[in-house]
Amino acid sequence: MKTKAVIIIGGGASGLIAAILIAREGIAVTLLEQNSKIGKKILVSGNGKCNITNRHIAVHRFHSQNPPFIESVLQGYDFARIEAFFHSIGVELIEEKEGKVFPMSRQAASVVEMLEYEAQRAGVEIRYDCTVKSITEVKQGFMLHTTQGDEACDLLLLASGSPAAPQLGGTFGGLEMAASLGHALIPAYPSLVQLCSDEVWVKAASGVKVEAVVKLYANSDYVTEKRGDILFTNYGISGLAILDISYEVSQQLAAFAYCELSLDIMPELNKEQLTNLLTHRVNTDSSKPLMLWLLGILNKKLIPVVIEQSKCRAKTEQNLNRKEVGKLVYAIKNLKLSISDTRGFEGAEVATGGVDTTEVNPQTMESKRVKKLYLAGEILDVDGDRGGFNFHFAWSSGMRAAKAIIA
Ligand SMILES: Cc1cc2nc3c(=O)[nH]c(=O)nc-3n(C[C@H](O)[C@H](O)[C@H](O)COP(=O)(O)OP(=O)(O)OC[C@H]3O[C@@H](n4cnc5c(N)ncnc54)[C@H](O)[C@@H]3O)c2cc1C
Repeated sequence: MKTKAVIIIGGGASGLIAAILIAREGIAVTLLEQNSKIGKKILVSGNGKCNITNRHIAVHRFHSQNPPFIESVLQGYDFARIEAFFHSIGVELIEEKEGKVFPMSRQAASVVEMLEYEAQRAGVEIRYDCTVKSITEVKQGFMLHTTQGDEACDLLLLASGSPAAPQLGGTFGGLEMAASLGHALIPAYPSLVQLCSDEVWVKAASGVKVEAVVKLYANSDYVTEKRGDILFTNYGISGLAILDISYEVSQQLAAFAYCELSLDIMPELNKEQLTNLLTHRVNTDSSKPLMLWLLGILNKKLIPVVIEQSKCRAKTEQNLNRKEVGKLVYAIKNLKLSISDTRGFEGAEVATGGVDTTEVNPQTMESKRVKKLYLAGEILDVDGDRGGFNFHFAWSSGMRAAKAIIA
């Protein structure tokens, strides 16, 4: 077999899977990782459980300026293929709600340990604390300038991830190196991220968690909606529904749109049911203060803002009439919250944007601009929904790159 020296930049999901598959074929692979440990994002993923993939992989669960690229990459790289790989390294998978798939151990640490063991067993040379600063094209391949000296290779896989979560190794470094080699970049923005708000009432409601339907309006136009938990915090709002809607918010904020959320904080009742419930509770002889009356159905910290936004004039239960009840119902189902920003890359699980995928071959992940340069994972302009989709793309694109490098 002709030997080829392969270097992979990045010991994350896509780099590790590629390194293992290449090394299993007896090809010399060196993996350069800037952190003192590999797989830092894997380690904290899925709240420490690692949501490895999803049973229901579909193109519409991903975002990119080039959806056909995603479709091509995922063709044949479905759940079963990822499951087979993990089975081959001894990690068995289990499905939970919404098709989310986890390691049976439900421990992200076990995934990293098993990947690291397999990489070493297969002969991958892992270089820790080694940051690649720049890449130069040379006659037979590439020269990498690293914090541990220069490294040459025939084939190079750039799997250095995105700028999301810099505390775990997220960096613009890989994108800058891709750009220096001639690649176009789609601007990166934080996604799967908490949102900030300057509204005073939000701070006061800090700590309150409710189920809600969250609608996004940009410059007063309806954009989209998500349902799930929301959590008010001292900086703004978090929770699963917020992470899910953050991709669209981030895009709108990047386009300088005014973003406002409309929260239905009682989605289990429709407008009519809520109106009936409130109307039936009205006792026309009661001087019970409105605040106290609402305490029977709403979290205490949310009552002042519901009353304020409803502009309800009634001060006591006996002052309520259908019109005043209607105002309260409207506020409960359309609580307004303006968004000033996202929590940035520090709070984000992923980044939108990345290397323009029109310049990458989706079958091989090889650059169309630079021969023998491969790109995989989140460095590319592909990000997915919450639920295991981001890892799925990292594993799939890493596997494709490995297959092409081996060939
Ligand atoms: C808190 C959190 C939770 C998440 N949970 C999930 C989840 O449950 N399910 C899911 O599908 N996705 C999840 N994600 C997203 C997922 O982690 C990423 O999409 C995935 O790790 C991307 O894989 P990657 O290989 O492209 O990049 P990464 O896994 O980020 O790996 C890139 C590696 O390259 C290294 N590197 C970067 N630049 C250099 C350089 N110049 N020199 C040397 N090394 C370099 C980095 O240190 C890093 O180790 C989560 C992300 C975060 C932050």
